[in-house]
Amino acid sequence: LVVPDFPTIPFIEGDGIGKDISGPSQRVIDAAVSKAYGDSRKITWKEVLAGEKAFRETGTYMPDETLEAFKEYLIGIKGPLQTPVGEGIRSLNVALRQTLDLYVCVRPVRWFKGVPSPIRYPSMVDMHIFRENTEDIYAGIEYMTGEEKTKKFRDFLINEMGVDKIRFPESSSFGIKPISKDGSERLTKAAIEYAIERNLPSVTIVHKGNIMKFTEGAFKNWSYDLAENEFAEQTFTWREFEKIKKEKGQLDADKALEAAKKDGKVIVKDCITDAFLQESLLHPWDHSVIATMNLNGDYVSDQLAAMVGGIGISPGANINYLSGYAIFEATHGTAPNIAGTGKANPGSLILSGVMMLEYMGWDKAAEHVYDAMEHVFARRKVTSDLHAQMEGATLLTTSEFADAIIK
Ligand code: NAD
Repeated sequence: LVVPDFPTIPFIEGDGIGKDISGPSQRVIDAAVSKAYGDSRKITWKEVLAGEKAFRETGTYMPDETLEAFKEYLIGIKGPLQTPVGEGIRSLNVALRQTLDLYVCVRPVRWFKGVPSPIRYPSMVDMHIFRENTEDIYAGIEYMTGEEKTKKFRDFLINEMGVDKIRFPESSSFGIKPISKDGSERLTKAAIEYAIERNLPSVTIVHKGNIMKFTEGAFKNWSYDLAENEFAEQTFTWREFEKIKKEKGQLDADKALEAAKKDGKVIVKDCITDAFLQESLLHPWDHSVIATMNLNGDYVSDQLAAMVGGIGISPGANINYLSGYAIFEATHGTAPNIAGTGKANPGSLILSGVMMLEYMGWDKAAEHVYDAMEHVFARRKVTSDLHAQMEGATLLTTSEFADAIIK
């Protein structure tokens, strides 16, 4: 990815608290870029409209110009968007992800010293979620009970596909869960490459293949195939471990695993989602990069975020690693209950900006923001979401928190 020294970055301000966090986040990023590179690099922010603001000004929630701007400039950033009710749009976020085919949602999960956590060893958390973004039950293929096409589809399933009637009472609504080989492979490939680039020890495939064998189970198998075929030199899989164990015994399998670890290979393993939700709370250090399908990824993302201070400080990015398109975004919603009050934590959007700087290769600026935030948290200066859980901490408004980071 070649980024000019003076790039234009389109941004969507966002609904609700979007207005509160957008400006302060940009100020922090600008300050870090200036500290890192002086006058030799600078971002020009270009506002593009979406959501309520777009509707007020243009009569549509997602103007074509907005999508075009993200295509033209490749990299963008956005605040949260409220899903319009009754507009025939499932979600503006989904529309963006599908238009640009942003097939991975990346969410790093790291803890800042001083931030309250419900787990015992938060400092051991260094996880990176790779959630598939375009398939699964979230593809939006749903059939509502009573509709003609639902009846037809039900008849087809019963008459042509031999599905037992008892499983489909006439009052059923249903949805389709497409999981493709290509979709699984590009997700897992991105996760493995990310682990290799960053020297991370493992990739865990999180799935419900024990129950949904031909969708979630296929995702697991395709992922193992990909690791063994395309990354044979750089990975060692649990499937290989099991094979050695069966053919040569436990001792040889253990030896092979130890040798792979010693060689710095990425260990590719799998875990069933329900077990993973427990596992990640009890032994977070056992999981480094997590590759998972859309629905499970949604659940896993918020649980892991809660381990390190919640969605107010958890960043995210939607990326197509093949085309380079990337939109960095706050992971929380529009928080209408606190919009305009100065209570919103801009941390999630600021850290999404850090991910953006890293993606651009502007690592020095990214480190400045990260270090400064660490410094502010260590001094127990926080916004209201964290303040309530931290006795004796100093309460800052959204803007004051950004100023403290800049200072
Ligand atoms: P939410 O994330 O907006 O709020 C959940 C809770 O977390 C609220 O109590 C809120 O005050 C708090 N919170 C969220 N972000 C915070 C922050 N930065 N600082 C402090 N507190 C914060 O979730 P919701 O209430 O379920 O959704 C509200 C709207 O947001 C809905 O319209 C939903 O569709 C939309 N939404 C958008 C996105 C997105 O754009 N990526 C994601 C989730 C929800």
